[in-house]
Amino acid sequence: MADEDALGRALAIARAYIASRGDRAVWPSTTLADLRAALGGPLPATPIDAVNVIDALARAAEPGLVTTTGPRYFGFVTGGALPATVAAEWLTAAWDQNAALYVMSPAAAIVEEIAGAWLLDLLHLPSASSVGFVTGCHMANFTALAAARHEVLRRAGWDVEADGLQGSPAVRVIVGDEVHVSVMGALRYLGFGSKQVVRVAVDGQGRMQPEALASNLSAGNGPAIVCAQAGNVNTGAFDPFDTIVDLAHVHGAWVHVDGAFGLWAAASPALRHHVTGIERADSWATDAHKWLNVTYDSGLVFVAHPAAHRAAMSQGAAYLTRTSSEASGAPPPLAPREGMDWTPESSRRARGFAVYAALRSLGRSGVADLIDRCCRLARRFADRLRAEPSMRILNDVVLNQVLVHVEPPGNNAGDADAATRDALKRVQDERVCWLGGTRWHGMDAMRISVSNWSTREEDIDRSADSIVRAVRYLGS
Ligand SMILES: *Cc1c(COP(=O)(O)O)cnc(C)c1O
Repeated sequence: MADEDALGRALAIARAYIASRGDRAVWPSTTLADLRAALGGPLPATPIDAVNVIDALARAAEPGLVTTTGPRYFGFVTGGALPATVAAEWLTAAWDQNAALYVMSPAAAIVEEIAGAWLLDLLHLPSASSVGFVTGCHMANFTALAAARHEVLRRAGWDVEADGLQGSPAVRVIVGDEVHVSVMGALRYLGFGSKQVVRVAVDGQGRMQPEALASNLSAGNGPAIVCAQAGNVNTGAFDPFDTIVDLAHVHGAWVHVDGAFGLWAAASPALRHHVTGIERADSWATDAHKWLNVTYDSGLVFVAHPAAHRAAMSQGAAYLTRTSSEASGAPPPLAPREGMDWTPESSRRARGFAVYAALRSLGRSGVADLIDRCCRLARRFADRLRAEPSMRILNDVVLNQVLVHVEPPGNNAGDADAATRDALKRVQDERVCWLGGTRWHGMDAMRISVSNWSTREEDIDRSADSIVRAVRYLGS
């Protein structure tokens, strides 16, 4: 009974929060000290009633919440949380299934199987690819690159899972110069130091230059992995996949694609041309918690070589029972999915439920609409800011990312950077919207990412007005 009351209380609080997110200040005005005081104190010596715990938690935490699910949060690359995914997440918590093995939760295993197949269909990836439900794109990159490491060394006659990397044939790892840090992090966990990774020149939008890749590939031989990118984290630009895959495969290299948000272009008929040839890569990493607007934490990895994926991830122990097709009642060879064969974790939350709910609630057309709408809104944002004489849009707005530089007339480059930083600070303090900053090609820039399902034109206009206000105030 007490538990039910706590859930009811949480539901009421959650509903009120969700209803307020269009109007809440986008960034909180509480202080670090206030939050420490509100949430802190000694560890309770004795139990506290669950309803009181939930009430006090909400009261103390809410002043420190960032309205990332609201329509005017443009920081990092941050999706909101679709109503169906929030609700599915509540059920997931109540069911508290462990998605490691079929025997622990047949429903979790089958939902991942179905959602995985839908994702491959939606993103136009090879239907026989394996799918892993991981914490985020960082771990998706890790999982895919572990499969890559396994496979390129296996082809060279080396069993990396058994014999390790010390003494193995050298693996060449090639990335674009604007590779995402998480790819470098994933490579580091896999034994490839950042100085060992070859960085290939990129063009003005951050796209890998095929000629530079070709000369790097020709400069050596042996096992190789090429990391390409769908959606540069600053510009949203796409690497030229068709050419990259052709070049890499001639050299027997594995092609991995970091598509944390850019891979979703494949789900839009209007944007699919940006990812031509991507389906011929060997592995892909993306996020559901960014542009699909699934709740955190939810990343996805797809591998065109399931045996390599499983070899890199699966663990065996006598008590970790796999379920045979016969035991599950399925005709051979349709053995059920074992979640832990495809992810770095063993025990974990049943992430598939929220992804499944997102895909069902949007459908194929809803995903395409979401992606297209965000891109249209990003262009609107860029157009509004471009109309202001002292603002320059630095990138080609091909996706949902916009880079803004403030350039007061007659000022030099250093002043422009300072003006950009000052304006950003003012916008953040006004709290109508929130965006972050970046350093790009030697310049400070405001960085806008439109990734939320609930953002509308009026949100873009209000936010653009806030930025224009800040720039004009500082220029006056
Ligand atoms: C966000 C991002 C990642 C890392 O994803 P997480 O979900 O934070 O783990 C990797 N690559 C790119 C391009 C990203 O934008």
